Amino acid sequence: MITTIENSSFKSLNLHPSIQKALEETGYNQPTPIQSEAIPSLLKGRDLLGCAQTGTGKTAAFALPILHNLYINKIKIQPRHVRALILTPTRELAIQVHESFTQYGKHLRIKTAVVFGGVGQNPQIRATAQGVDVLVATPGRLLDLIGQGFIRLNQLEVFVLDEADRMLDMGFVHDIKKILKLLPAKRHNLFFSATMPPEIEKLASSILSNPVKVEVTPVSSTAELIEQSVMFVEKENKRPLLKEVLLNKDLKKVIVFTRTKHGANKVVEFLGKNNITAEAIHGNKSQSARQRALENFRNGLTRVLIATDIAARGIDVDEISHVINFDLPNVSEDYVHRIGRTARAGRSGSAISFCDAEEKAFLKDIEKLIGKSITPIENHSFHSKAVVDSRLLTKGKAKAIIEAREKPTNNFRSRNFNKKKTQPKKAE
Ligand code: AMP
Repeated sequence: MITTIENSSFKSLNLHPSIQKALEETGYNQPTPIQSEAIPSLLKGRDLLGCAQTGTGKTAAFALPILHNLYINKIKIQPRHVRALILTPTRELAIQVHESFTQYGKHLRIKTAVVFGGVGQNPQIRATAQGVDVLVATPGRLLDLIGQGFIRLNQLEVFVLDEADRMLDMGFVHDIKKILKLLPAKRHNLFFSATMPPEIEKLASSILSNPVKVEVTPVSSTAELIEQSVMFVEKENKRPLLKEVLLNKDLKKVIVFTRTKHGANKVVEFLGKNNITAEAIHGNKSQSARQRALENFRNGLTRVLIATDIAARGIDVDEISHVINFDLPNVSEDYVHRIGRTARAGRSGSAISFCDAEEKAFLKDIEKLIGKSITPIENHSFHSKAVVDSRLLTKGKAKAIIEAREKPTNNFRSRNFNKKKTQPKKAE
């Protein structure tokens, strides 16, 4: 089970009985820390700044009081209008958040809809035509539909920005600002982000008014629940190493992270040739292909899912036994997000990272963020002492080398020359 607060109950939060009934049916007995901290203030209509990532129960923390307030103050919605808007960075997260609203609100007469890009817009236009209480949306498609006059936000009561840091990473800042301009000045605002760098704080303060702040599981402490190890390996041996690691059947449900979409496809192909069924989800796949791959993974048909950071964001699959970082991310927070896919809901989980010579710079940074060193594992066929002994590069240099390797350009020659200079031990 997810970490909940003992001796605390949803009853004491005074949520509408129909919501409590839905929670019982869902199997939630006690609120999680973010739920018991956020719900009372949200029921009173206070703005909220939540520093929390997925896995903490944050969706219910905002969905439950929103449903309660909308239901208690039920009004007749005008066609095309929306009462509560939840903006999410990815389609997968939008679908999940919408499912949560549907589940928790199943005994209320509350109309919900979800809109996102990559699929036809007509069903979404039909779903919102009569107006909805709750709309979950990704920014691009929402602006499209608003631009065509199918959705109106000028009577909005509640605005939620979910995973704000990821929104900014994905370049949605202008879309968000456009959407904000369309909202009425008086509204209830909720803002969630896993990390709070200065630009996120600035955006939050431009949206929120006198917010309550709720912070749970700071990024560095989540990692402590997960058994973490690192395998030092030459870049060209990563695929055979992955095959070897996957031969261990204790790895029951595995997400493998690669840096690029191309890399993800190549890993799927390699594993396929070695009779290990794997599927990839990333931005180049159609929405239906991603959904199908996710469903196969969820119900155990596929044991190994290969993902890039963006595609994996917000994926809510329980019982992931292992996360493998085929490539280490150069943004340390991404490491924490990735490994947060396992050990969900209080279960145990492991994260194994493959680290080549250049990636040692990223490893160092990650260890700094999580405040501990990651245990090296040497008893595998591809352990490389040369990688262990290789010179530690600066992060910038390491990133430049890796990017040059992935995208050979006209000046590849000179970059390659650099690489040879800084990495004499690495045979290409
Ligand atoms: P979230 O952080 O919103 O992605 O939620 C993480 C997981 O915890 C989801 O699978 C939820 O269904 C589950 N969850 C949320 N709240 C509770 C609760 N109070 N008790 C048990 N499970 C919960």
